[in-house]
Amino acid sequence: MSLEDGVRRLTLPLPTGPKHVHCYLVEGTLFDTGLGLGEAPWESAEIQRIAITHFHPDHVGGAAAAAAATGAPVYQGGLDYAQCERVWGSQDWPERMAAWFTRHGVPRDSAAELIEQGHAFAAFIRYALDPNLLYEGSTLAGWDVVELPGHADGHLGFLRDGVLIAGDHLLQRISPAIGLYPESRPDPLGDYLASLERTIELAPRIVYPGHGDPIKNPAERAGELIDHHRRRLDQTQRALKGRGQTPYQISVSLFGTELGPTERRFAVAETLSHLERLVREGGAARSEADGTVTYTGP
Ligand SMILES: [Zn+2]
Repeated sequence: MSLEDGVRRLTLPLPTGPKHVHCYLVEGTLFDTGLGLGEAPWESAEIQRIAITHFHPDHVGGAAAAAAATGAPVYQGGLDYAQCERVWGSQDWPERMAAWFTRHGVPRDSAAELIEQGHAFAAFIRYALDPNLLYEGSTLAGWDVVELPGHADGHLGFLRDGVLIAGDHLLQRISPAIGLYPESRPDPLGDYLASLERTIELAPRIVYPGHGDPIKNPAERAGELIDHHRRRLDQTQRALKGRGQTPYQISVSLFGTELGPTERRFAVAETLSHLERLVREGGAARSEADGTVTYTGP
């Protein structure tokens, strides 16, 4: 589909979640590659280079296939690629993830389910090995590379002439997931709030996101998301009690009990990102005893 600014949007199906992901093609640069399941229209498109916004499966999973089909080199954030290898390239990542969730109060049978799911899933994610690495200040085919951490530690945006290709940094209808995960930056919500402020300063005219419609009022949307997280921080603080609770218990008060394993994983990670922000703002305290992490109110 042709949009303004010479942007071509290629939408691929997803089995879960928002059910679709957008890739964008602008003058020979393909941004993101979908999950990599099924046919992708790469061979018919004139692709000279492939740029990845972040390592999540629906953005990077098709990178190796897209590179093979087009012969184009792949560009990915330096921090993002390190995390991509750590998560998708290591055999025991699901076990490390499960151990970490157990430490944060997730019941053992749910953690075991996580391991099973993790192994089943990892096999499908074919990121491109040894891509060209990008950093804040890099340029690629006239695009300025901007690091926008939060939704992913090494999330990149690509900015040119007021157009920001933003992956999942900014979405119109949903609030991008901001979760704390093992072996990652310690305060992802703090990172995200700063990246939203940065977006307001950069003042793009339009944002092309990984899911949903183009965002024609990026600064306003960034402001709404800041407000959303401020409210969520208040709710999280109210859920804290005098006695310590695990992040899992707190996620149950915030998100309810009726969640499947994947939703619960997101809920616990999201709760943790808010708890760690509160710790830094003086609104919560963390302690750990007998291998279990708990949080209390101030
Ligand atoms: Zn994502």
